Formats: sequence, C-alpha cells, structure tokens
Amino acid sequence: MKKNHPKVGIVGGGLAGIYTAYLLTQHNITYDIIEAKAIFGGRIYGENTQSDDYKIDLGPSWIFPHQQEIQKLVTRLGLQLVEQYNSGDALFQRSANQQPEPFSGVAPPVMYRIFGGTSRLIDLLSENIDEQNIRLSTTANSLQYDGQYWHIKMQTSKSQCGLLEKDKSTATPEELTISSAFFEHLVIAVPPRVIAHKLSFEHHESTTGSSTQVPDIFHEKAVIQQAFLQVLNNKFEQVPTWMAAQAKFAVTYSRPFWRKSGLSGQAFSHVGPMGEIHDASFEDDSGNSVFALFGFIGIPFAHRQQVSIEQMKNACLSQLASIFGLKANEYQQTYYKDWASDIFTANSVDQTQAPMHPHIDLASEQPHLQQIKLHLATSEFSEREAGYMEGAILAATNAVEEILLTVP
Ligand SMILES: Cc1cc2nc3c(=O)[nH]c(=O)nc-3n(C[C@H](O)[C@H](O)[C@H](O)COP(=O)(O)OP(=O)(O)OC[C@H]3O[C@@H](n4cnc5c(N)ncnc54)[C@H](O)[C@@H]3O)c2cc1C
Repeated sequence: MKKNHPKVGIVGGGLAGIYTAYLLTQHNITYDIIEAKAIFGGRIYGENTQSDDYKIDLGPSWIFPHQQEIQKLVTRLGLQLVEQYNSGDALFQRSANQQPEPFSGVAPPVMYRIFGGTSRLIDLLSENIDEQNIRLSTTANSLQYDGQYWHIKMQTSKSQCGLLEKDKSTATPEELTISSAFFEHLVIAVPPRVIAHKLSFEHHESTTGSSTQVPDIFHEKAVIQQAFLQVLNNKFEQVPTWMAAQAKFAVTYSRPFWRKSGLSGQAFSHVGPMGEIHDASFEDDSGNSVFALFGFIGIPFAHRQQVSIEQMKNACLSQLASIFGLKANEYQQTYYKDWASDIFTANSVDQTQAPMHPHIDLASEQPHLQQIKLHLATSEFSEREAGYMEGAILAATNAVEEILLTVP
C-alpha cells in the first residue's frame, strides 16, 4: 500500500515548500504538499489593489543585490526586478511637535522588488503543481518515523476554501477532517519554532506483534531515535523566525503626491506607530499603476494588541499626514497585517523577543537526518541568508539535493 504513496511529503507551502515542489517536479519525483492555510505563500503574502496586475506586499518586498539565487529564479519565471524607488529626499520625524526633517535618504545598496508584488513568485511556482498533490487548509500535527516511512497525521478544514488561521483554533471537530499519509522522505518547510511548538515529532519503530515479542534492540534503537528527535526539537526552539514579530501597514493613492514634492516616500520616525516608511508603488510604461506607501509598525506586539486594526490604521494615516501633508488623507485603500498574531509564523517567544537573525548548526545531526530521510527546507535552516527569501531557495535546493542522493 505504502508503495503507492508519493515519495516525498512536504510540510509547509511557503516559498521553501513551493520551491521544493517545483524542483521535485523537474526530477519526476512524486510528492504531496501540505499547507495549513487556504493559500500558498506563507510569509510571502500580498493583497489585491485596484489594478489586477499589482498586489501590495504585506510580507517581504526586497531582494538584495548579492542574493543571486532568488534573482535567477525571478528571471527564470519571466518576472521583472525593479529598483526600490528612492529618488528625492527622505524625511526624519524626530518628535510629534516638530516638522519632519528632510535628508538625502539611506545610502545604497539598491534594493530590488518583484514587479507586480512578491506573491507573483508564489503564483507562478504553484501554477504547475498538480491539484491532486495539494493539501491546502491542512495542518500537519504529528510526524512519526517508523524506521522506513514518515507517517504524517493532519487535519483539514472542511471546505477547501479554508478557515482563516485564527478561526481554526476555535473550529469545532465537525469542521475538521482528520487524515494521515505515509511518505519515504519528509521535507519540513515550516519555521523551526512552529515545528517545536505545534508539531509532535516521534519515532515509532515499525514492529510486528505485541511489544513483549519485540527484541530489546528495537526498543533501544527507538529510544535513541526519539532522543535524537527531542534534541532536534530543542534546537529548533532556539531559532528565531525572521520578521515574525513585525506588522506592516500599507495604503494606496491615485497619485504619488510625495514624489511631486521631491520626496522619495522614505521616512523614519521616533513618533510612530510606523518606525520606517517606504514607497510601494508600481507603474508600467503604459501608465498602468498603483501608487502606495508602506511602513513597518515600530511598536511591540503587546502594545499593538491593545488597539483594534481600525485604530492602528487610523493612527498610521494620521502619522502619514503629519509627515507627508494632508494629501495623505486622500487615500484609496488601506492594508494591515500583524505577523506576530499569525500562528503559523510566530509563537509566544517570537512575539516578545527582540529581532535576531536566525542561525542553527546541525552539522553533527546531518548524517542522521539523511539516514532517517528528514530534510529541512525552511529559510531559517539555510547556512547562508537564513531568514531571507534567498535562504528559502538555498535550503529547499539543499533538501532536494539530499533526496536526489538516495534516488538510484
Ligand atoms: C513582514 C515581513 C517582511 C519581510 N521582508 C523580507 C524582505 O524584504 N526580503 C527577504 O528576503 N525576506 C523578507 N522576509 C522573510 C521572508 O518572508 C522569508 O524568508 C520567506 O518567506 C520564508 O519562506 P519559507 O517558506 O521558508 O517559510 P514560511 O513562508 O514561513 O512558510 C512556512 C509555511 O508553513 C505553513 N505551516 C506552518 N505550520 C504548518 C503545519 N503545522 N502544517 C502545514 N503547514 C504549516 C505556513 O502556513 C507557511 O505557509 C520578510 C518576512 C516578513 C514577515
């Protein structure tokens, strides 16, 4: 029976999971991809604007010049990189009672954005995944290795259009379907801390007969394997999820009024709620455009929780008016996403810890990981550029290379 199952189970459908699927397809290796949310993308998330061609990025926007692998992928998929708009003065808002001070802006490096929005990357990568290999709105709960196969237990929300992640925790049992599947290889593409907090990791050596008939050696092996997974889980717990504590606000306008005043749209503030603001517009040669500003909320999650989304949006709009003038009130649409309250991205530690770059050293565990066919593809697991989209590409590539080593 197990022979008919896809070879690889991919848990997590962010960039790392989707790119793993993309590479496995190229190598004709079968897989299922299991994603907790109703859509792919994970931290890459964009919302619609007035133009069908452009999305507002509420997750990542920028690619650094040295991040070559993600740039190559963008080009391979026929997408275009554009430079972050930086022409004109930036503003510094020192205090609420003072006029913002112009300055020449933050020096290069130039940062790139994916024209149309970062989520176009996810749209194109997921386009070629066969529907029958996709399990959306499906949360993996338990990962068990039986010495030969990985057994994933999961729950799917009843309608494939999915419950919102917040609703899921309060869903009644009737709204959820429990299922399980076996895979030869397991690719984990979920932030390490989410694994440590939400997934149960077990080693159950497959044996026949009752436990009293099983030779001691099998029990011993299972105990060692279980201890290994526990050590691994403890290490995962220590790895911060990049940007998990962040919240982003964005707003669209019919005109880029700040540009007309010689401003780049970049601003830094000691007043808040946004600590940092940037231009998020797109415009093509034919004049098809969306003009927008976005900002990172500079106040901690605990304080953000004390206000409603509407209050937060209004505070951001007032701040924009105090920095860029009253034209900022003539907006089209507002957007807000608090990643710290996204249970598939952040946990309680991420919510309170100061931002730190992720790092995990698994050199001593690597031979055993390969032996039990467990491959770690999330960006945070990458040896380079961990936490960034580049890291997700590198870690997923590495995971697929490990799988290919076992294919005759
Ligand atoms: C606000 C913000 C700004 C950022 N800015 C940048 C930037 O400018 N440049 C840059 O390079 N990077 C940036 N990043 C980081 C970038 O988004 C990540 O590096 C990248 O998206 C990570 O992809 P991933 O697939 O490794 O992980 P994720 O995107 O976190 O994907 C994990 C997936 O696993 C799913 N999942 C979780 N638990 C389960 C479960 N139990 N079962 C099934 N599925 C599960 C999640 O729903 C999610 O889809 C930013 C991130 C944020 C939040």
